[in-house]
Amino acid sequence: MAYDPNNIFARILRGEIPCRKVYEDDYALAFYDINPQAPIHILVIPKGAYVSFDDFSRYAPDAEIIGFFRAAGQVARAAGAAEPGYRLLANHGPDSHQEVPHFHVHIFAGRKLGPLLAG
Ligand code: AMP
Repeated sequence: MAYDPNNIFARILRGEIPCRKVYEDDYALAFYDINPQAPIHILVIPKGAYVSFDDFSRYAPDAEIIGFFRAAGQVARAAGAAEPGYRLLANHGPDSHQEVPHFHVHIFAGRKLGPLLAG
């Protein structure tokens, strides 16, 4: 699947639409999900143009992968979620119900999150 440069997260990265920013560095941007599924629900996205985890894990240079995952860990710690715990989730492709075709991880925290999969 080709990367769509007009997907909503690409537009957030370009500053064309706003987000509630949590964190930003050279590799990643983190912001609150617009439709939170937990008391803390943050999205972390790479600055580079990758459709999904499959694309990112295949083609991103090592520095981008390392920078991205270090940023995600930092965001979760800064949100106070490291001690009680959190869930990190990435959807890839139609069976996963991925909605936005720019790689992102969800960080869910702030309550007991229950079983891994529902439905
Ligand atoms: P996924 O199903 O993994 O692709 O998740 C996409 C997520 O992006 C959903 O949880 C949406 O609520 C969230 N989302 C969509 N548009 C925005 C936006 N403009 N700002 C913040 N989160 C968004």
